This record gives sequence, structure tokens and C-alpha cells, in this order.
Amino acid sequence: MFTIPDICLVVMYHYIKGSSRKYGPCWTSYELFTDQIKYLKASYNIIDPQVYHSYLNGETESLPDNSCVLTFDDGLREHYEVVVPVLKEFGIKGIFFINGFPLAEKSFLDVHKVHIARNILSDEVFIHKFEEILRDIDIDSFNYYNDYSDPKKLENIYRYDSRHMQKLKYFITYRLDYSIFQILFDKLLEGVVGNLSSHLENYYMNSKEIKSLCDEGMTIGNHTWSHKLLSRLSTSAQKEEITKNHCLLNDITGKNIFAFSVPYGKTDSFNNDTTDNLVSLDYKASYITERGINVGKKDRFHILRIDTNELVRSKER
Ligand SMILES: [Zn+2]
Repeated sequence: MFTIPDICLVVMYHYIKGSSRKYGPCWTSYELFTDQIKYLKASYNIIDPQVYHSYLNGETESLPDNSCVLTFDDGLREHYEVVVPVLKEFGIKGIFFINGFPLAEKSFLDVHKVHIARNILSDEVFIHKFEEILRDIDIDSFNYYNDYSDPKKLENIYRYDSRHMQKLKYFITYRLDYSIFQILFDKLLEGVVGNLSSHLENYYMNSKEIKSLCDEGMTIGNHTWSHKLLSRLSTSAQKEEITKNHCLLNDITGKNIFAFSVPYGKTDSFNNDTTDNLVSLDYKASYITERGINVGKKDRFHILRIDTNELVRSKER
């Protein structure tokens, strides 16, 4: 006789908007979101993330058949406005991964400045502006960017982008100096969005909203302070990114935070320092964006996820 191992499908959501957004697999329309939840509810057992965390940490023996966990990254306002009412309607719990920087500094995360620029400009114009400004302000970085080529690696990380855009995104995330990023994107967004900070309130959940999610039984998780690529950081800088956000979220929710989502989420986006920090803070789970279904009590710090749009195809796509 053999036993079928417990499996858990973890679905990952980012943007959920009613308006048209032209890029990326990370965007889901409001209507599609509701349809997907109906589909997932009919096909899987959508479990409270805390049930999964208890299982992974050996506090319980087994999972319900066809378990599924829903995750929402980046603390976006639509998670409060759109997602939570739908989850409540269907009696479902999810996990929401938050960055503290926008809450504390009243400023956009770098990763979202890139999204904002790309959402307004065509890819062609975005790439042209980016290259023009980079060449102007830092010729050495520009030369490095211009000469970089590793098609296989780029294809693996950015499957949905043109080769040119893959190269640009890789350079921004893995190589571009953070201070140059600030100058470059301030220039790039100048005249494109007007007063960027006026959009902040509509972009991120505020502390009160995060607290109310937690009070309604949703799980709040740590997504680092400012969404930097952890594997680029020194040991001390990485500790600060994780610990500072941990403390802020504990304060906001009045609860101990014990789940983590790795920014960018690839296996090379983090390292042993990341895991050491999570262990020392008593974290129970860490989610990445590498694709796959989780089988049994596998490594609780490498939980695989599937982007919702890869799971449920839509007629819009
Ligand atoms: Zn993120």
C-alpha cells in the first residue's frame, strides 16, 4: 500500500485592477479575479495560510486534499479594496506581503516606479528614455548594460518580455546602483506623471487598512522594508531590510509576523543570510516565485508559487 503525499498549490497575485494595464503577467482584471476565485474554490480546498504553516512546521500531520493557498504581494491598495471583499464573500483567507518603506517614508518603492513608467509609456519609448538618461548620467553603467548578454538566463527570469526589455529589467534589478536608479527614474518620470506622490495613497494600503485585514483573520507577511534584491546586499543591510519591516508590521498588527516573501523571488534573489535572518526571527515560511506545486513537508523557506495567470487562462490574454 502506498500513500499519496500532501500537495499544496500556492497562487500568487500582484495587481488587480479594473482599468486596462498593458504589461506583464502580474496583472489580473477585477472580473477575472472573481472568476478565478470561483474556479479555485470549486477545484481546490483553499486553506488558511496558517494551516499550511502549521503543517510545514510539523505542528499538524496532514493537509486537506488538493490544498491551495492564496498570496498577495506588495501591499497594494486594491488588495484592500477589491480582494478582501471577494475573499470575505467566499469565506476564504489569504496572506498579504507588505513592504514598510511606502508606509514610513511616504514614497514609492523603486520597483513600482518602473511599473508606473512602463504603464504610461510604450516599451519602445521607455527603453529609449532609459538608455538616453543612463548614457547621460553614468557612461560606465551604460556601457556595462549595453554589452551585457546572457539570453538563456534572461529568458528564464523574464519569460514575457522582449529581449531588449529583459536586458533592461535584469540590469535595473541586479546591477544598477541604487543612487543612480533614483536620479534616473526621477528624470524619467518627470513630465510623465506630474506629481508622483499624489498617487501614493491610491497605490498602497495604509497602516489602518493593514491592521483591519489582520483583524479579519487574514495573514500579514514580511516582504522586506524596501523590496531590494536581497542577494545584492551586505549581511548587515539584508538584516536591516528584514528586521526593520518585521518590527513595523508587528507594531501595526499587534501580532507576531512569521511569514516572508522574497522580493523578485528567484533562487538567486536571496542567499543563506536571508534564511539565517528568518530562522533567528522564528519565521515559519518563506515564499518564492519559482514555479511548481509543493509536495509534502518540503523546505519551508522555498515555497513555490504559480502566477494566477499561468494557472487559469483567460480569453483576454
Ligand atoms: Zn514584490
